[in-house]
Amino acid sequence: MSEVKTEEKVQKKYRKPSKKKVCAFCVAGEKTIDYKDIAKIRKYVTEKGKILPRRQTGVCSHHQRELATAIKRARNMALLPYLGD
Ligand SMILES: [Zn+2]
Repeated sequence: MSEVKTEEKVQKKYRKPSKKKVCAFCVAGEKTIDYKDIAKIRKYVTEKGKILPRRQTGVCSHHQRELATAIKRARNMALLPYLGD
């Protein structure tokens, strides 16, 4: 009778279990991020040079700040592309 309704409910209720991401820099025990370490920084920047949001990378707020500074510095040194070309 109400089987269809129940199924709908279950589907609506279902959510992807969010994997707990741990900040890679915290795991590595790094307090500062070197802007010269492009190989590392590249992972947190899109091809266009955008800084990836924390939700996607799982970087903690402290390291996200460090990362943003490092990326800006790297851009300044022409190691990374600037946004909007
Ligand atoms: Zn961290």
